[in-house]
Amino acid sequence: MVCIVCGNTKTAGLASWHATCPACHYESAALSVAINEHTGPAVNEAEREAGLKALRLENFRAIVQYAKRHARPGGRSLLDVGSAHGWFLETARDDFDVLGVEPDAVVGSRAAARGLPVRAGFFPDVLKEGECFDVIVFNDVIEHIPDIGSALEACRQRLNPDGILILNLPSSRGFFYRLSKLIARVGWRTPFERLWQKDLPSPHVHYFSPDNLSKLVANRGFELVDSAELPALRAKGLRERLKCAGNVPLLSLWVQYVAIMCAIPVLRVFPSDIIVCIFLKKTAG
Ligand SMILES: [Zn+2]
Repeated sequence: MVCIVCGNTKTAGLASWHATCPACHYESAALSVAINEHTGPAVNEAEREAGLKALRLENFRAIVQYAKRHARPGGRSLLDVGSAHGWFLETARDDFDVLGVEPDAVVGSRAAARGLPVRAGFFPDVLKEGECFDVIVFNDVIEHIPDIGSALEACRQRLNPDGILILNLPSSRGFFYRLSKLIARVGWRTPFERLWQKDLPSPHVHYFSPDNLSKLVANRGFELVDSAELPALRAKGLRERLKCAGNVPLLSLWVQYVAIMCAIPVLRVFPSDIIVCIFLKKTAG
């Protein structure tokens, strides 16, 4: 029960599987990862895709801008770890020579069938010997990887000199996450479990804040060069997103839609649930 960021002893959290560090506020979950085993409830992939796409694409466009700003001049090779449907590869391929790695065989082959350069398997196992990149991106992936230390070490090895690592992930300082914890404390755990993706094939095992994430990554040979919040809710595609929740009556759907549209300007005041941090590989010695 040692905190992977600061080495303090973690304390019990809001569920039997949840723990927090009282010193740096890093949070972890003892939830097991079972990609390709297809246990857990079936997610309607097509609906999920439509619902998330508009928000994701807007955020991906922002991340490509960060990559262009911080990559070394002329640095064009980009690796997308956990490239899923290939949307980030599509967004980045005008500016970079992209490659995706995707552990979910079904999802990966569908993206490859659309002509995207995707290798099936896990990072860094599927890379060739000596294959290095100017940019490595993890979009909603790093929070799923139990041995994050080894993943970061592999990033160091697979980045060219002056290479950058971009981590896009949920934030424990986010408004919705903190709201879900408040609600869990009074006895309703569903939103909290949903944000951890409990019972899905690949749940979250970490929840970081910008501060403790920077500390963890900086201790492993990187330097934080930029960080930003990305909107967790956008008006674009919201109706499709709400429909994905499943069998919801139409009236309830509209009530939710109007409530969220009104809440979007208010929410801008609070920390967002999505952050992006850009790290530069430190030169050894
Ligand atoms: Zn800690």
